[in-house]
Amino acid sequence: MPQKNKNIAIIGSGLVGSLLAIYLRKHGHDITVFDRRPDIRNIKFSGRSINLAMSNRGWTALKEVGIEDEIKKIGIPLNKRAMHVVGQPEYYQNYGKEGEAIWSISRGVLNKKMIDLAEEAGVNFRFNEKVWDVDLPEAKIFTGETEKSEWKEYQYDIIFGCDGAFSRVRHKMQRRSRFDYSQDFIDVGYKELTIPANADGSHKLDKYSFHIWPRGKFMLIAMPNLDGSFTCTLFMPFEGEVSFENINTKEQAQEFFVTYFPNVMQVMDSLMEDFFKNPTSAMVTMKCYPWTYWDKVALVGDSAHAVVPFYGQGMNAGFEDIYCLNQIIEKLGDDWEAIFSTYQKERKPNADAIAELSYRNFMEMSSKTANPKFLLQKKIEKRFAQKYPEKWIPAYSRVTFSNRPYAEALAIGDAQEELMQEVMNLPNIEDLWDSKLVEEKILSLLAE
Ligand SMILES: Cc1cc2nc3c(=O)[nH]c(=O)nc-3n(C[C@H](O)[C@H](O)[C@H](O)COP(=O)(O)OP(=O)(O)OC[C@H]3O[C@@H](n4cnc5c(N)ncnc54)[C@H](O)[C@@H]3O)c2cc1C
Repeated sequence: MPQKNKNIAIIGSGLVGSLLAIYLRKHGHDITVFDRRPDIRNIKFSGRSINLAMSNRGWTALKEVGIEDEIKKIGIPLNKRAMHVVGQPEYYQNYGKEGEAIWSISRGVLNKKMIDLAEEAGVNFRFNEKVWDVDLPEAKIFTGETEKSEWKEYQYDIIFGCDGAFSRVRHKMQRRSRFDYSQDFIDVGYKELTIPANADGSHKLDKYSFHIWPRGKFMLIAMPNLDGSFTCTLFMPFEGEVSFENINTKEQAQEFFVTYFPNVMQVMDSLMEDFFKNPTSAMVTMKCYPWTYWDKVALVGDSAHAVVPFYGQGMNAGFEDIYCLNQIIEKLGDDWEAIFSTYQKERKPNADAIAELSYRNFMEMSSKTANPKFLLQKKIEKRFAQKYPEKWIPAYSRVTFSNRPYAEALAIGDAQEELMQEVMNLPNIEDLWDSKLVEEKILSLLAE
């Protein structure tokens, strides 16, 4: 259904804000995007490149507005995990079926490209302009140098808050009655480190793998960049025996890497410098509701739902918000009140589901991987899934390689878990795990 032209402000030129701008321009609206940051396209490369994984949901949203192929040019497909486990040679685990891959993309390069594409589509950007306040019923925003300085006032027909996990737009909505809000930090932090390219520009590790060095309560991951480098992320508790709190000197850092990551250390040229120069950052799950105010204001992306990054889905979920919002717009035309109401009702359960799945993945990685019973269960599931791929799609595949709702992936995952508890209670399961009996038990439970 065609829409009447609206004057729309988007707060935030991050990944979600810039994609939403492209979508809304396609409907013919006038779009202005505000960002407190300077234009990232003019900032000199800092030398640190942070990357993220794009999977099905992200690609689906990009494809809808015809920019999937353009973005694929700046990504690297990863079709497998490379596991670096202590005491074992490196081994690989394919992600999904033939041809299924997640894509490693530099966040900065992607964001610059999306802003370029939005500008080409006719979007107007106002950088270095921080939004301090929002008048929700009037759809007005107030920008300025500081909270106390003189503010500029702008009025729009509609405002979208795409201003991230610590959203100012949401902050204003929070002051209203019956607005639900929660934020939960986990006790693990992260630090980004770099494996530079070889002198000839090639990668030092396999380029088409997502590299993981699991070490129980902490772990290191690495994803490739186009320039031959890898961005690594060290996830580790803030406090405790092996923790960020206990690494304060170069000697302590050296000892930590020699003990736990000796091979990685050899390929990280500026490890010590990076370790102390780069910040240790926190991770949060943020939930809120409602996400919209009448037909005037809506939250999209991290401002509505921030998740811990252990499923690699935060941006993908934000892009899926836009894809779904667009489908609702196409159905409901000009009724923005109905559009916003349908959008939040449809997306909220899915945002809660990916928050839960991401948190569970964190718990799995940090506490369950040392539990022999848990490892055995995973082995049984994997064996069964390989033999009966149509009967057992693992939760990871449902989340990463499908566009089915996150809430469905969570519900099916819960049902699979319940079934596996029965299997794990079979007597002598440790000896029988790869027997016909176990296989038949799973088949019969699935048929119930
Ligand atoms: C360590 C880590 C790894 C991750 N890995 C992945 C991954 O592999 N895959 C994945 O899908 N997701 C991943 N994510 C999540 C992903 O980064 C976020 O979900 C995504 O960046 C959210 O985009 P956004 O545009 O909603 O918010 P942001 O990227 O936070 O953008 C918000 C924008 O709003 C601007 N802004 C903020 N306040 C104001 C204001 N008051 N006025 C004007 N402008 C303002 C900011 O400057 C910024 O440009 C990861 C996150 C972390 C922390």
